[in-house]
Amino acid sequence: MPIDPQELDELVGEAVEVGRRAAAGGEPATYIPELARADPGWVAIAVNTLDGHECVAGDRGVDFTLQSVSKVFSLACQLRAGDDALWDQVQMEPSGDAFHSIVRLEEEQGRPRNPLINAGAIVVSSRLAGDDPGARIETFRDFLRDASGRGVSRFAMDEAVYLSECRTGFRNLALANYMKHFGVIEDPLQAADTYFRQCALTVNVAELARIGMFLANGGADPITRTRLLSELDNRMIVALMTTCGLYDEVGRFAVRVGIPAKSGVSGAVLGIIPGRMSIACYGPALGPLGNSLAGIAMLEVIVNRLRLSVFESR
Ligand code: GLN
Repeated sequence: MPIDPQELDELVGEAVEVGRRAAAGGEPATYIPELARADPGWVAIAVNTLDGHECVAGDRGVDFTLQSVSKVFSLACQLRAGDDALWDQVQMEPSGDAFHSIVRLEEEQGRPRNPLINAGAIVVSSRLAGDDPGARIETFRDFLRDASGRGVSRFAMDEAVYLSECRTGFRNLALANYMKHFGVIEDPLQAADTYFRQCALTVNVAELARIGMFLANGGADPITRTRLLSELDNRMIVALMTTCGLYDEVGRFAVRVGIPAKSGVSGAVLGIIPGRMSIACYGPALGPLGNSLAGIAMLEVIVNRLRLSVFESR
């Protein structure tokens, strides 16, 4: 059933109000000190439907870093480059552990559980085309620009967040070193550096909803008609978002909301309704598992009201 644009406009406004109340129960991430500077009261949402309706509400002018939402796009970038050998090094199973957990790496010979936890994403970053982290980020940025239909060009790196993570990212460096031991990556310092840089690229909600559209549309940009990924690779990423996108909160999220999504510790959440729309949320106040409280609450409002859960009988 087509969605009435006016109803959607009203609903995103309502979602922001619900999001603001949900945010009151959380705090921004502090383990990357620079992220703690975000105002926990910020809440924003943007929706882009595949049939061309766009709506934005809340603190739409705030830029935020992609953090772990970038993992979806680095994976897409690598699959577009034809790197199927990636799956020899990274599994496709949910981890049930925190995003930066190291425990399973020892039992599983350094092969990360999936590309959406830190260890897996570091492997993906290490494989992006380029001779050094700077060049690899250009490859990645180029993918983001293509995903935006070439409508967004900046994807500027937040230098302060990047440096803050460089100074404090010992767990990620440990993951990279550990995987090097098993021969899963070649250069752990460069791999972690590339990963820190991609996490520090900035967007606003409207831009994030725009670059998520191909994921909702079988791998092709519905506006420019450019194909970014094969249907099969796109389906694989959307499936991984469903099973691994919110780490150890993914089961509860499936029950509460029931859509493919990816979160980041900046407070970003990208939700995908296959065949329908891309929804970007931002709210830096996080719950105990590192996911945006407002982001989840806003997705819950929209998905439940419009009966968009992928598990709904329609
Ligand atoms: N850069 C962050 C980290 O590695 C990303 C984690 C996240 O967004 N969940 O810790």
